[in-house]
Amino acid sequence: MSNLTKTDEVLRDLRIAFADYLNSFFPFDYENQTCRLVDNYVASPWIRCDSCGNYPIQAVSVIRSSDGQEMRVGNKCIDQITRRKVSDWFKELRTKQANVTLNRRYIDGIASILTAYRNNELPFQISKDDVERLQKALERMCNGFNPTRAQAQLSECYIRQSAGATTR
Ligand SMILES: [Zn+2]
Repeated sequence: MSNLTKTDEVLRDLRIAFADYLNSFFPFDYENQTCRLVDNYVASPWIRCDSCGNYPIQAVSVIRSSDGQEMRVGNKCIDQITRRKVSDWFKELRTKQANVTLNRRYIDGIASILTAYRNNELPFQISKDDVERLQKALERMCNGFNPTRAQAQLSECYIRQSAGATTR
């Protein structure tokens, strides 16, 4: 068994998706140079776009050309330069990372309850319907969405039961 929790695994997969996405742009041409996209991050403090001069830009894409020059550009420019909706993709990824991190307690709690259920090691009763509901909730959160109110309540209820059962 791996030492990573379910949340760690999901966050690791998102980091891999981030790297794969960056690599998917290589090579592209910009101002007669062969370029690659090497990073995307939220700048703090905000910076000026190296391409159009706009200030402030918060979400920054870093382009490196084959001669080693780097440019830091904003959303509008990176979308134009690459002719892809780069800024939306990174924004969505960051939202997912934030949600997964925020839901860590639910994700890890449900994952361990479902593992215990499959191994017949659950110290309390749970209906098949609720198992399915928990599976759905887990899937949704692992995909980077927040749980519905009902899913959050159900998760809370079983995670509490689970905690109570193990400390007894
Ligand atoms: Zn710009």
